[in-house]
Amino acid sequence: MADVVVVGSANVDLVLPVQRIPRPGETVLASGLTRGPGGKGANQAVASARAGAATAFVAALGKDDGGALLREALSGSGVDLSLVSSVDAPTGTAIITVDAAGENAITVAPSANATLTLSEAARTAVREAKIVLSQLEIPFGTVQAAAEASGYFILNAAPAAELSDELLGHVDLLVVNETEAEAVGGPKLASLLDRVPAAVVTLGAEGAVILTRTADEIRVPGVRVEVVDTTAAGDTFCGVLAATLATSSRTGPVTESDLTNAVRRANVAASLSVQAAGAIPSVPHGDAIDARCA
Ligand code: ATP
Repeated sequence: MADVVVVGSANVDLVLPVQRIPRPGETVLASGLTRGPGGKGANQAVASARAGAATAFVAALGKDDGGALLREALSGSGVDLSLVSSVDAPTGTAIITVDAAGENAITVAPSANATLTLSEAARTAVREAKIVLSQLEIPFGTVQAAAEASGYFILNAAPAAELSDELLGHVDLLVVNETEAEAVGGPKLASLLDRVPAAVVTLGAEGAVILTRTADEIRVPGVRVEVVDTTAAGDTFCGVLAATLATSSRTGPVTESDLTNAVRRANVAASLSVQAAGAIPSVPHGDAIDARCA
C-alpha cells in the first residue's frame, strides 16, 4: 500500500533558451534545446518518493519515446508505476521558453493527460493511501473523483483556475502560490479559509505561510540560497510536504504542528531544488534534505 498516491500529469519538457520571449507574430531563435521528463504530477511523485514515502503515481502516458523517458525517470526514483496507463494519444508535452533573465513562458499540450480517468484499481489505491496529492493539469472530473475517494486530499491548485465548491468541499489542504491563491480566494489570503479548512501559500524566496481555521497564521521563512533555476520548486515543495505528512509517526488527524514540521522540510527541499537546473534532475533526495534540516 502506498503512503502517498499522486494523481496527475506527466509531460516531456522541451526547454528553449532565448534572449527574449517572442511577441505575438514574432519568430526568435533559441540558443539550444533540451528534452527532459517533467509535468506537475511526475515532478511531485518523484519528490515524494525521493523524500522517503512509498509513492504510487496515477497517470496516462503515450506509447511513444516520451512515455518511455518518463517511465525511466519515475521508476529510477522509486515511484510505483503499476497504476500508470499507456494510451493511444501522444505523451503530454510542455514547450518552455526561458529568456536571459530567467523569465519563462510555457505552453502545455495535455494530450495523454487529457484522457486520464480513475480506474477501479486506482480508486482503491486512492482510498487506501494516507495522503492523496493532485494538481490541475488533468481533467477536473478526475481530480474530483480522487478527492471524493481519498481520506486526506491535498490539492495543489496549479495552474491557477477558478474552482467549484463541489471540489473544494473535499480538499483537506490546499497548496498554492500567491497568484493561485488569488484565483481561489481573492486578494486576501485569509479568505481561502472560507473555502478550505487549511491552506499553505508558498511565497518564493520568503518561504510559506500556513493558514488553518483553528490557529493563527504560521509563517515559515525561506532558506537563503543562490538560485540557479526555480523550475519545479513548487512541485518539490508539494511532493515533500505530502511525503512528510504521510511518513511522520503521528496517528489521528493532521495537526498544526504536523503541518509546520512538513512545511519546514518542504521549504528546505525546495531551496535545494532551486540550486540545480531542470525539473526532475533538480529534485533532492531525503538524505540531502535531512542533512540540511538537522
Ligand atoms: P515554481 O513555479 O517556480 O515551481 P511556484 O510559483 O509554484 O514555483 P514559489 O512560491 O515560487 O512557488 O516557490 C515554492 C517554494 O520553493 C517556496 O515556498 C520556497 O520553499 C522555495 N523557493 C522558491 N524560490 C526560492 C528562492 N529564491 N530561494 C529559496 N527557496 C525558494
